[in-house]
Amino acid sequence: MSIKNKPQPSWSRVVGNILLLVSGAYLLISIFFPQLFGPPIPQVPYSLFIDQVQDGKVLRVSVGQNQIQYQIKDEEGKPGQILATTPIFDLELPKRLEEKGVEFAAAPPPNNGWINNIISWVLPPLIFVAIWQFFVGRSGGPQGALSITKSKAKVYVEGEAAKVTFADVAGVEEAKVELAEIVEFLKSPQRYIAIGARIPKGVLLVGPPGTGKTLLAKAVAGEAGVPFFSISGSEFVELFVGAGAARVRDLFEQAKKKAPCIIFIDELDAIGKSRANAGFFAGNDEREQTLNQLLTEMDGFSVSGATVIVLAATNRPEILDPALLRPGRFDRQVLVDRPDLAGRLAILEIYARKVKLGPDVDLKAIATRTPGFAGADLANLVNEAALLAARAHRETISQADFTEAIERVVAGLEKKSRVLSDKEKKIVAYHEVGHALVGALMPGGTKVAKISIVPRGMAALGYTLQLPTEDRFLMEEKEIRGQIATLLGGRAAEEIVFGSITTGAANDLQRATDLAERMVTTYGMSKVLGPLAYEKGSQTNFLGDGVMNPRRVVSDATAKAIDEEVKEIVETAHQQALAILNKNRDLMEKIATRILETEVIEGEELQNFLSQVQPVDEKVAVAV
Ligand code: ADP
Ligand code: MG
Ligand code: ZN
Repeated sequence: MSIKNKPQPSWSRVVGNILLLVSGAYLLISIFFPQLFGPPIPQVPYSLFIDQVQDGKVLRVSVGQNQIQYQIKDEEGKPGQILATTPIFDLELPKRLEEKGVEFAAAPPPNNGWINNIISWVLPPLIFVAIWQFFVGRSGGPQGALSITKSKAKVYVEGEAAKVTFADVAGVEEAKVELAEIVEFLKSPQRYIAIGARIPKGVLLVGPPGTGKTLLAKAVAGEAGVPFFSISGSEFVELFVGAGAARVRDLFEQAKKKAPCIIFIDELDAIGKSRANAGFFAGNDEREQTLNQLLTEMDGFSVSGATVIVLAATNRPEILDPALLRPGRFDRQVLVDRPDLAGRLAILEIYARKVKLGPDVDLKAIATRTPGFAGADLANLVNEAALLAARAHRETISQADFTEAIERVVAGLEKKSRVLSDKEKKIVAYHEVGHALVGALMPGGTKVAKISIVPRGMAALGYTLQLPTEDRFLMEEKEIRGQIATLLGGRAAEEIVFGSITTGAANDLQRATDLAERMVTTYGMSKVLGPLAYEKGSQTNFLGDGVMNPRRVVSDATAKAIDEEVKEIVETAHQQALAILNKNRDLMEKIATRILETEVIEGEELQNFLSQVQPVDEKVAVAV
C-alpha cells in the first residue's frame, strides 16, 4: 500500500518565496541606498528653524513627536525646500507659527518620496506574512506555504500498490460480513440508487485498539477498488481555530471529486466528543466547529449524489456526541472485537505464511495460550518469535521461540491490564456460568446462546450472550424480577465459589438496581407504594440529545419507602440466584471447568448443559 501525498498547488509556495525575496531586497536597499526612495531631508538646528519662522520664510510646518518637518519659501515665495529639525519642548511654538501666518499640522507634509510612503505602509505586513509563511512552509514539510488549512489526508489510490483485501483480515468475521455489504454499495451504487435504496453514509467501526479497524477500512477500499482518504481525528484539532473545519471541508471536496470513494476518519472520538458532557468551561470551540462541519458535510453529500462512504474508527464509542450517531450519519456500527480461539488461529495463520516455521510449531497451541490478544498483538507475537530465532542464528522459528515471545508480549499487555491471569479467568468463568444458570431457570429469562471468557469490548471481562426468544414489548412483573435475578447470578456465583466478591459485578448491580427502581417508580409494580408513577414522563432536553427523567417531588417518607422497596426487590432476587446456584453447584463446576478449557461454550453443548438445571423449591427461593 503506497501512500501518496496529494500534490499541493505550487503557486502558493512560489508567491511566498517571491514575497520573501522582494521584502528582503527592499530592506537591504533602503538601508544602504535610502536616497532611492525620495530625497533625504536635510536636518537643521532648531534655532535656525525658529529664526526662519521669525523671518517669515516658512510656508508650512508638520509637527511630529520626534521630528518637525517644514517647507520654506524660495525667493519668489513659492514652496521650496523641505527641512527637518528635532523639536525641543517649546510651548510657544504654535503661537509663533500663528503670528506669522504659517500653515501647521500634525501630519507630515507631502514629499516626493511617495513610493517610500506607500512601501512603508504596505511592506511591513508583507514582510511579516512572508516570514511567517517561510516558517510554516518549513514545518509543514514539502506541502509548502498557505496549505495549513488543506487536508493532510493521505490518499491510497487503487492499483498503485499491493492492496489490502478481506483475506488479510481474520478473526472478525461478523464485521467482515457487514462490511462486504458496503463494498457492494461502492462497487455498483447505481443498482441501489435505481431501486430507491438509501446508501448508508457513515459506518462506525467500534473496538479496542489493535483489533484491525484501520486494516478493515483499507480492505473495504481494496475490495471495492476505490480511492481511500485517510485522516486521523487528532489531526483536525491540532492547529488554529477554524483550521479543522476548513480541513473537513477540503477533505470532502477532494473526496467528492473522486467518488465513489471512502473517507476514513481514525480516532473519531478526538473530534466527536459529546458536546453535552463538555461542561461550560471545558468546551472546546475548535473541536466543536470541526464536528459541526463534519455533520454538515455528511448531511450535505447525499444531495450531490456522489457515493462517498465515511468509515470511522473509535475505541471509545461511549463518549461520542449523539448527533454523530443519528440516521444519515454514522447510523451503522460494526463491532470489531478481540478474536476468539478460532479467530486467533486464523490470524496466526496469516502471519505465519510470511515467516519460516519449523516443523514443531503448533499454531493451535499458540492460539490457545493467547486469550485476550488482539490482531496487532498476534502480528507482533509472530515477529518477536522470528526475531528470537534470527538472533540465535536459526533458519526457522521453533515452538520454543513462540513460547518465549508469548511471555514477552503478555508482559507488555499485562501492564496495560488486558490479559487475565489464571485466577481472574477462573473468577470470570464462574461469574458467567452463574448468569447462565440463573437465566435458564427464571421466568422471563432469555435463552443463553453463548458463554465466553474472552475479554470483550472495553469493559466486560467475559460475557453471556442472551437471545430473546421473541420480540417483547410488554414484560410481566415476574419477568423483570427474573432478569434482575439473572443479573445478580454472576455475583452470587462468586460469593458461593470464592466466598468473596470482585469489582467485576459493578455493571450487573447497576443494571439490576436500575430495573428494580423502574419497577417501583415507573411501572407502579410496588405493593407498598401502589400504582403511582414517581417519575415524570421522559423529557428530551432542548438540544434533543439527552433524555432526563426527573423525579416527581415526593415526601421524605415516600422517598424512604421507594429506597426500601428497591432494596427489597434486589435482595429477593439475590437470594433466588443464590438458591438456584447452590442447588446446581455440581453443574456449575462442570460448565466452568469446560469453559476454562475452551474459553467459549455455545450451541448444542451449551444447551445440553443448561437442560440439566434443577429448579428450586419456590418457597425456599422466595424466602428472604
Ligand atoms: P486498529 O485500527 O483497530 O487499532 P489496526 O488495523 O491499526 O488496528 O491494526 C494494526 C495491525 O495489526 C494491522 O496493520 C495488522 O497488521 C494487525 N492486525 C490487527 N487486527 C488484525 C486482524 N483482525 N487480522 C489480521 N491482522 C490484524
Ligand atoms: Mg487504527
Ligand atoms: Zn456479570
